Amino acid sequence: MLTVRGLHASIEGKEILRGIDFTVNAGEVHAIMGPNGSGKSTFASVIAGSPRFEVTAGTAEYDGKNLLEMNIEERARAGIFLGFQYPVEIPGVSMANFMKLAVARRREYLGLPPLSSGEFLKLMREKGKVVELDSKLTGRAVNEGFSGGEKKKNEIFQMAMLEPELAILDETDSGLDIDALRIVAQGVNKLRTPQNATVVITHYQRLLDYIVPDFVHVLYKGQIILSGDRELALKLEREGYDWLINRYK
Ligand code: ADP
Ligand code: MG
Ligand code: MG
Repeated sequence: MLTVRGLHASIEGKEILRGIDFTVNAGEVHAIMGPNGSGKSTFASVIAGSPRFEVTAGTAEYDGKNLLEMNIEERARAGIFLGFQYPVEIPGVSMANFMKLAVARRREYLGLPPLSSGEFLKLMREKGKVVELDSKLTGRAVNEGFSGGEKKKNEIFQMAMLEPELAILDETDSGLDIDALRIVAQGVNKLRTPQNATVVITHYQRLLDYIVPDFVHVLYKGQIILSGDRELALKLEREGYDWLINRYK
């Protein structure tokens, strides 16, 4: 699904990603861990197509297409979804209108007919249940006045609505209490199919008790310095990152 080779990316002339190799196949769950400032959010943004970053070297192929030639909207339509570490409020734009547009574009890309108003509202209700999103929230502007936990749930709600092929969730677990964490994780698990893939970026092994990864990667100073399986996340939880970073230095 996604093959990244030797990816370098910069912001304002400062190099953040320094040669990333990363492959995701349909049906897989990958976890990306690593100390703060390693470049995890940058990597997620670059894959999603944020124009703030400049890719200076490397290749990225998505579904056989050159990902780097696709703009952010094309990537979203093609099924790449980014759940933000810090979801933004969009005052004046209702959740329904926001989702209507996004769903319409995604369906158009998939060659599916547009939904009627009734079908759309039914979809909103169904998908709201996946993360137990309060139905009052879907009547409001996007994220406006939502609590931290509600914003994170809303990211998964949007993911449920769009049924992405490749979902990248950037620290969706941070700031969630244990009940919200479980709901969010169960939501992600419900959306898993053999055709889609999930990349979860997290600081904490805790999330990985619920969303069990097939692969765990450690990002440090813009490079993946070690990959492993679930055991690696448990070891990092027990021993921290120092043993690994010292070895790398
Ligand atoms: P992580 O998500 O792993 O905590 P980030 O991708 O957010 O790391 O950040 C990686 C590095 O890039 C950090 O050193 C951060 O300060 C730097 N960085 C991120 N965004 C910007 C920006 N807009 N301008 C300058 N530096 C940035
Ligand atoms: Mg961070
Ligand atoms: Mg981050």
